Amino acid sequence: MLIFKFGGASVKDSKSVKNVAKILSNYSAERLLVVISAMGKTTNLLEKVLVVKSQEERSALLLEFKKFHLDIAQSLGIRDVFKDYIEERVLHIDNFLVSTKDEFYCYDEIVSQGELTSTYLVHLFLKNEGLRSSWLDAREIIKTQDDHKITQVNWVKSSEKIKKWQDSNQKLVITQGFIGSNENNETTTLGREGSDFSAAIFAHLLSSKSVTIWKDVSGMLNADPSKFQNTIKLNQISYREAIELAYYGASVIHPKTVKPLQNKKIPLYIKSFLEPEKKGTIITDGVDMIPLVPSFISKIEQVLVSFTPRDFSFIGEKELSEIFMVLSDNKIAINLMQNSAISFSIVFNNARQDLSNIQLALESKFSIRFNEGLELLTIRHYDEEIVQELTNGRNLLLEQRSRSTVRLIMDTKTYS
Ligand code: ASP
Ligand code: MG
Repeated sequence: MLIFKFGGASVKDSKSVKNVAKILSNYSAERLLVVISAMGKTTNLLEKVLVVKSQEERSALLLEFKKFHLDIAQSLGIRDVFKDYIEERVLHIDNFLVSTKDEFYCYDEIVSQGELTSTYLVHLFLKNEGLRSSWLDAREIIKTQDDHKITQVNWVKSSEKIKKWQDSNQKLVITQGFIGSNENNETTTLGREGSDFSAAIFAHLLSSKSVTIWKDVSGMLNADPSKFQNTIKLNQISYREAIELAYYGASVIHPKTVKPLQNKKIPLYIKSFLEPEKKGTIITDGVDMIPLVPSFISKIEQVLVSFTPRDFSFIGEKELSEIFMVLSDNKIAINLMQNSAISFSIVFNNARQDLSNIQLALESKFSIRFNEGLELLTIRHYDEEIVQELTNGRNLLLEQRSRSTVRLIMDTKTYS
């Protein structure tokens, strides 16, 4: 079996959905399990549904959600068969928000409607095109821990589920990324952009031959082309290199994607859905990188937070554990950390709510300094000349080096 993953951009409108169908029809000789994200920016839209205060605003957003999908269905000629499904989704969201008070549970149930809707729509279209598609609710297979919003996979339970399901022997399966369910069969999610990870989980559970992530770029590049000129496509990279790049923030794959594949030596292909005949990048065992070139990963909107104990004591295990407790309670993912005798600094993606929560919880004990609007630039396989060039004339707040990687926290540069 082959696993394919299509992200939101690959199903953002009717033309894109047709393109996906065309790619799938090229693989009609294979058994395929296809993981699909919510269409376009639907997840962001559904996140908004959760935060707006008034019923009016919520209704307007839900109308947008409905209309966006209905228009696509209309252009694909499947409006009539799809209509009831989207009506049900909207009704479900409204009812759920009224009946459930748990914030994170609501999050999972509401945002997951994006993937349910997109996969159902694509499935209906494929059937309409004569492909023998079957729709799988990923929550029946991907079992997770009980907590909501960025939960962990329960591998034992998930493999029990897949064993039973595998017998069904379907040829073309359309399913969702990002979502799963816990012991109580409540919907859970794996963290934003988690569909790549879902594809890897399915691949691991099914010991599949390979995974292909279809993207709007030609493969894994050594830098983000919207920020850097003269990017180079990496033809082959090792699991190790891929996991490092993804961890530092290369947005081409979700950082959790690599481990389940590496553990079973399943190759991962990154290919362009715009040029599906081209080779793309293969991530597998073996050499670090072909060609071996420096990689640049830039994360903007970073905040640097430094904690100093008010009584001038050392930052020790006890102080660190207090800080980490607060970070973990607020589900803050740290991008970089560093400590000195009496100060501990972390860098993470800025969200104002996080800053005030941290302040509230820790300011009695620590004096806390924030620097906002920063860029975290990571260069793998760097040399001195490159570092000089990229830091030239910029305000460098923090620097961390290993033999292969340098990480720089600087005031944000505006890219042209
Ligand atoms: N739709 C989810 C998100 O946008 C999951 C994904 O696309 O990977 O975060
Ligand atoms: Mg998405």
